[in-house]
Amino acid sequence: MDSGRHAEIAGAGFAGLTAAIGLAQQGWSVTIHEKSPELRALGAGIVLWNNSLQVLKAYGLLEELEAVSMVPPWYETRMNNVVVSKEDFGGLPWRSMTRHDLHEVLTRGAMTAGVEIIVDSEVVSADPSGSVTLASGEKRSADLVIGADGVQSKVRDSIGFDQERTKSRDGITRLLVPRNKDQLGPGEWDNVIDFWNLEPRVLRILYVPCNDDELYIALMAPKDDKEGSAVPIDLKVWTENFPHLAPILEPAAKIHGRYDGYQTNVLKNWSNGRVSLIGDAAHAMCPALAQGAGTAMINAFTLGVAATIDASGDMSTTLVEWEKAERGITDRCQARSAYFAETRSMAQGNQFTQEMLETAIYDPTAGQKGTFAK
Ligand SMILES: Cc1cc2nc3c(=O)[nH]c(=O)nc-3n(C[C@H](O)[C@H](O)[C@H](O)COP(=O)(O)OP(=O)(O)OC[C@H]3O[C@@H](n4cnc5c(N)ncnc54)[C@H](O)[C@@H]3O)c2cc1C
Repeated sequence: MDSGRHAEIAGAGFAGLTAAIGLAQQGWSVTIHEKSPELRALGAGIVLWNNSLQVLKAYGLLEELEAVSMVPPWYETRMNNVVVSKEDFGGLPWRSMTRHDLHEVLTRGAMTAGVEIIVDSEVVSADPSGSVTLASGEKRSADLVIGADGVQSKVRDSIGFDQERTKSRDGITRLLVPRNKDQLGPGEWDNVIDFWNLEPRVLRILYVPCNDDELYIALMAPKDDKEGSAVPIDLKVWTENFPHLAPILEPAAKIHGRYDGYQTNVLKNWSNGRVSLIGDAAHAMCPALAQGAGTAMINAFTLGVAATIDASGDMSTTLVEWEKAERGITDRCQARSAYFAETRSMAQGNQFTQEMLETAIYDPTAGQKGTFAK
């Protein structure tokens, strides 16, 4: 099934790899340019929900992911180490995993589908007529150009998409540590646990088991808290506030880590001519609802379907129609995530209402089953 069409993609993150697999499985020739010298995922762990799990299923990659991920029984919220809520989302599929494992599943999926991935290849600009220019000076043309090059997207900025960027007062240090379950005392340590302290100091630890051995912890502190936002983490500050987590904080303090501020980018449009943006390049969001990668993957999937069908026969019109159809759910998720970052109201527990789970529940493959060979 050779469609005779070609896509050039900037960025081999979750968005770029997901788009590449979809297009390649539908007969496109696809090249991804990754600026790093090696293929890897930055960050520590991640949670995926029904939306992106359905995408992996449509691609024939769900079983592979299941083998390297787990389903935490509950999402528990604690204030000052007292449980305020336990949510199981009524059976909605969700899974936790390391970013490394998710990235490997997607990379293998892309290779199997015949995607060409070139590392050490930075895209410095793109042109709406359908081309990318690389740092080497080479210019390459395509029927479809995808900017999946993250929050600092050069594809986006070289074209000059209108955008509004908001930075939040909080940020997070993400680390992967040994689970050390037997040293943590009594508790349901397979749960995701959202530990909040608001008084006398705002500090939060999101505890996310990824598999039998690895634990992802995200340590949140306001940007203006010098000690709370320091890397490596200030062991004294964190163990004073979360003494029950000392067995995982001690190894965490030995990792250098990186503190990232939250930000929200809202673009007027996601496409211009034959160039489309997906993932953080198009809609970076605060991590409250754990949906940045989820929305990246659903938009990458639906973009591949729309571009292949290309109902109007003119890619630029198709991209506008695709955005019209798909954008609302991402915009609402982005706004809700910004609200939670602003109010810190996830600390109250029971925040995953049906409305807040709208994006997580969404199945982008519904109605498109059978599009793919697998
Ligand atoms: C604290 C925190 C927790 C989060 N937790 C979750 C979660 O649990 N679930 C979830 O769904 N989301 C989560 N997210 C969001 C998620 O991490 C991002 O939305 C997602 O990684 C975005 O993927 P991406 O592919 O768009 O961008 P990126 O992951 O940034 O990938 C971009 C890729 O492009 C490459 N690149 C950059 N510039 C160029 C260039 N010019 N040329 C070529 N290559 C280039 C980069 O090296 C990189 O490989 C979280 C985010 C944060 C900050």
